[in-house]
Amino acid sequence: MSFALQTRGLKRRFGAFIATDDVSLKVNQGARHALIGPNGAGKTTLINLLTGVIPPSGGEIFLEGENVTQTLPYRRVQKGLARTFQINQLFTPFTPLESISLAICERDGGGNAWKPLTQYSHVIDEAAELLTRFGLGSVMGVRSSVLPYGKQRLLELALAFASRPKVLLLDEPAAGVPEDERHEVLDIVSALPSEVTVVLIEHDMDLVFSFADRITVLVAGAIFAEGTVEEIARDPRVKSVYLGENA
Ligand code: ADP
Ligand code: MG
Repeated sequence: MSFALQTRGLKRRFGAFIATDDVSLKVNQGARHALIGPNGAGKTTLINLLTGVIPPSGGEIFLEGENVTQTLPYRRVQKGLARTFQINQLFTPFTPLESISLAICERDGGGNAWKPLTQYSHVIDEAAELLTRFGLGSVMGVRSSVLPYGKQRLLELALAFASRPKVLLLDEPAAGVPEDERHEVLDIVSALPSEVTVVLIEHDMDLVFSFADRITVLVAGAIFAEGTVEEIARDPRVKSVYLGENA
């Protein structure tokens, strides 16, 4: 069986600085896989390499067994890889309904073909259904720029999901979200359909331990520890990394 996502000896340098140091990662099909580590450990860089936003300095990336190391980012999306960003990247003049409808047209390759508007009713239906599932049903006609930040993060999640991903990469989906909106974002992340493989970067250890089935710990660009939640929770070396950061 192939892994949903796998890297072999992945490396990324920025000048003399090594941001990704020989990372060989294996993400099981349908996994809830958490990627944790101190600030600057290289978590976002790894996501950028996986999605093709930046090229690696060495190594290989496999999506469902297929080597995608040289594949363009939009082709990786078409092959089932989607992500959200640590800092949100919404096009805010649009409403959620407009944003999601466009994403669905893009996915179906029909966005550039002129058709009577009535032929798009299935797009609107699917968009509305998706928005409801992501807690945005009551605000789907509101300009995104005026949405509470938690709702903006949920819209980003819904946008990633609109591509019908097999593998979803979430870079701190609740980052910057005020305390009273956090639980809604985290509940929706926890309730993502089980057939979708999810890789989650998150600092809240309570959430990581309740969400994940496997955890990879990155430190200084390299894999420091990898295992089940139980293995990582009782690993004294992992504790020392986090105690060192919090001290
Ligand atoms: P994390 O997401 O784990 O906090 P990042 O992947 O954002 O860490 O960053 C890892 C390291 O790589 C940091 O030291 C950061 O300054 C560096 N880095 C990331 N992107 C670049 C870049 N484009 N140019 C130079 N250095 C970078
Ligand atoms: Mg980051």
